Amino acid sequence: MSGPYRTALRAGFGGWVSRRPDGDREFDYVVVGAGAAGCVVANRLSEDAANRVLLLEHGGADLDPRLYIPKGFVFTISNPRYTYRYPTLPVGPEGSVETWIRGRVTGGSTALNGMMYSRGAAADYDALAARGLPGWGWPEMLGAFRAIEDHRLGESALRGSGGPLVVSLPHGVDTISDALVAAGESLGWRHATDTNDGDDERIGRSPATIDRGVRVSAASAFLHPVRNRENLFYRDRTRVGQLVLDGSRVVGVQARTAGDGPRVYCAAREVVVCAGTVQTPLLLERSGIGRPEVLAAAGVDVAVESPNVGERVIEQRAVNMQVRLRIRGGHTERLNSLPKQLWEGLGYLLTRRGPNASGGYDLVCHFRSSPEADRPDVQGIWSPFALDRDHSGLKLAGHSGFHFTGYPLRPSTRGSVHLGGPAPEDPPVVNARYLETEEDRRVTATILERARRVVAASALASLATEEFPGPDVSSPAEVVRHALEAGGGIYHAVGSAAMGPHDTDVVDGSLRVRGTGGLRVVDASVFPEHPSGNTAAPTMALAWRASEVILAER
Ligand SMILES: Cc1cc2nc3c(=O)[nH]c(=O)nc-3n(C[C@H](O)[C@H](O)[C@H](O)COP(=O)(O)OP(=O)(O)OC[C@H]3O[C@@H](n4cnc5c(N)ncnc54)[C@H](O)[C@@H]3O)c2cc1C
Repeated sequence: MSGPYRTALRAGFGGWVSRRPDGDREFDYVVVGAGAAGCVVANRLSEDAANRVLLLEHGGADLDPRLYIPKGFVFTISNPRYTYRYPTLPVGPEGSVETWIRGRVTGGSTALNGMMYSRGAAADYDALAARGLPGWGWPEMLGAFRAIEDHRLGESALRGSGGPLVVSLPHGVDTISDALVAAGESLGWRHATDTNDGDDERIGRSPATIDRGVRVSAASAFLHPVRNRENLFYRDRTRVGQLVLDGSRVVGVQARTAGDGPRVYCAAREVVVCAGTVQTPLLLERSGIGRPEVLAAAGVDVAVESPNVGERVIEQRAVNMQVRLRIRGGHTERLNSLPKQLWEGLGYLLTRRGPNASGGYDLVCHFRSSPEADRPDVQGIWSPFALDRDHSGLKLAGHSGFHFTGYPLRPSTRGSVHLGGPAPEDPPVVNARYLETEEDRRVTATILERARRVVAASALASLATEEFPGPDVSSPAEVVRHALEAGGGIYHAVGSAAMGPHDTDVVDGSLRVRGTGGLRVVDASVFPEHPSGNTAAPTMALAWRASEVILAER
């Protein structure tokens, strides 16, 4: 397989092995977690050969080819070898326990996510600057996005080229997506070639981190290509259990590699925690940094009181719709049996094209829930596949069709993630608290009606034989109930170690953990508001920018 996979193989079987830090415990920077943020931070901090950088990752190597075939996520996201699976507290009127999935492998969640490349809008970042966080406004973040991108649409004032991260658009003929784009246009939405360009009502093919039919994870973009740096050390299958504090200053981490005993790795300058929105607050709390009552309940002594660790979590809640079509063919019918999968798999191996070569959702739209909204507050994503609704996993239906998922872009409900016990293995307490605010329910209630309007305006309307959930779910209350009962979280949680200008905010505007020294958090957990959509691109750009801040302070 080409590009990203070859680089991973070389890194896995050669590059890192010679520089595992077994006899060596002293570094300038220790980075925890090799996900979207950690790979970027390790790359940038080790650019200067004078910095000795250690990157520790709980998961294993990313050598499984299914981590590189874009549609391989169907297999990997349900594989405990590559994932954390966290049960939530009961959700919705039925009190269902749901599962939050996150990546636990080199590359983190970007090794198995849907690959959609959605940056958020200028207004999201300018709002950060306006709340007293200079340095995170649109001019700085646009600079970071342009620097990381190698965009196949080419360089422009808004796009970068030549950066480490390939971004491309789905290729090939897809009559279902084309029909939906045309319908969106007929309703007044702009047909966007680059859906990251602008903050108006728009629809278009979704940009994705895919390079000629192969997934590009944060590891393949930022980590594997720099495996030969003598000052960058990588240890996978290594879980950081605790931060090591000297008073309130963090001087290292205690970690355990699979099959080995605990070790302490010292950081002369800083520990940078990049463990993601769920694991970052848990690591802080296990180390005594957090809310006293939470720490007491988990049996952990307080080292630094920080009232918002694990609080203010923002996760989007999806409403799903599926339409069955009376046509033979389409993407579902190219993959919904073993012989067809083998045939398409062979085609993919030979050409890197076809349905296996595209990301989770091919089409994305942004629209306003009401004319009063000053910019889109709903994201809709469409996939030209129909799922088997009698199956709890990702199994394709026996018939042709397409799938729609819509969610509020910037929910105002806040949930929490806290320790369930003092040991790293103890399951966390995830309280998603979806759709608790009036505003979130109002926005959610509008979503199905808009999606149905798109379908009705499309050339597919006369071919549609059945819609799930159907006409019984139409009133605002029914749609909200449907979202809570049959929808789901969308893997984009942020905010559990949010940055802010106040003493009670977990990290300051330079992402330093308040009340401590030598400790920063750089990952999705630091966003205090949702960056309007998907979170991989914002997290990688934030990490790029954070590295500049860290290096400038040296
Ligand atoms: C199934 C799924 C689909 C998604 N689809 C999309 C999408 O299409 N587009 C998009 O933009 N976003 C998507 N996302 C979200 C996006 O991938 C994440 O928001 C992003 O990766 C977050 O980056 P992060 O660095 O904060 O955390 P992660 O990328 O999750 O990385 C955290 C890393 O830290 C490691 N770690 C955790 N604790 C420890 C510890 N104690 N010691 C050592 N290592 C540790 C983990 O193993 C992991 O590798 C999806 C996420 C998932 C799970």
